[in-house]
Amino acid sequence: MSTVRRARPFALAFAVAALLAGCGPAFNQSGAPSRTPTAAAPGSTGAATPSASTPTPTATPTPTASAVVVLDPGHNGGNAGAPSVINRPVPAGGFLKPCNTTGTETNAGYPEHAFTFDVAQRTAALLEARGIKVVLTRPNDVGVGPCVDRRAATANTAGAALAVSIHADGAAAGVRGFHVIEPARAPDGGNQGVLAASGKAALDLRAAFAAATGEPPATYPGALVSAGLTRRNDLAGLNLARVPAVFIECGNMRNATDAAEVTAPAWRQQAAQGIADGILTFLNAH
Ligand code: ZN
Repeated sequence: MSTVRRARPFALAFAVAALLAGCGPAFNQSGAPSRTPTAAAPGSTGAATPSASTPTPTATPTPTASAVVVLDPGHNGGNAGAPSVINRPVPAGGFLKPCNTTGTETNAGYPEHAFTFDVAQRTAALLEARGIKVVLTRPNDVGVGPCVDRRAATANTAGAALAVSIHADGAAAGVRGFHVIEPARAPDGGNQGVLAASGKAALDLRAAFAAATGEPPATYPGALVSAGLTRRNDLAGLNLARVPAVFIECGNMRNATDAAEVTAPAWRQQAAQGIADGILTFLNAH
């Protein structure tokens, strides 16, 4: 079930901190603070009364101001305890796939579902501070599912300008790095109309994530297009999307270096910044 995100205390605290830092939530496309077209005269109530001969100036809306972004934190904290639910086959774009999976974890036991939910929340706060409406595909980290087809439906129903599914990998201990997954044509062909835009989003996300985190683009995954970028048609979240959609695997949780990163809140904030930056680049350019 989709859940419209509500303001949480830390998100509000972030917004207040941003305001105190002089970077309020209202920005124009160039990144400079938006300005009020007409300043109220000192001592006035601020409610200017335009004359009939003077057109009322209106602020130019930015492309991002009304955008909806769906963030999909992979997996869920209750999945491991509900195998009969998450193993149920669901449509995945021309074939069936399990409803959901448990995800991976670091060798020390920090689970992927906790990582993805934390990064999604941090990313949402950064985007909301820029006036973007964010919808998360799950409201907390203690539930079961939702199934992968429902996660895609959340993005479609929201009319998302972009959907980003957040994950971390569980690959061999000797390899590391992040990669973005862009959709290939689904077996049922249903995502054909969003392949080009999704590909652009993938490039924006890869560049921004690398810049914000310093994490190396991975070269170990299969279906590699180039360093830090793969293209797949076996993921329901990409096959069923009718809006631009990408996945990001933020690092390899089974690699000691990456595990130390994903376990650190400060790095997760960098990861969120990278994801938010990539999303903003895509929204402003496309
Ligand atoms: Zn995952």
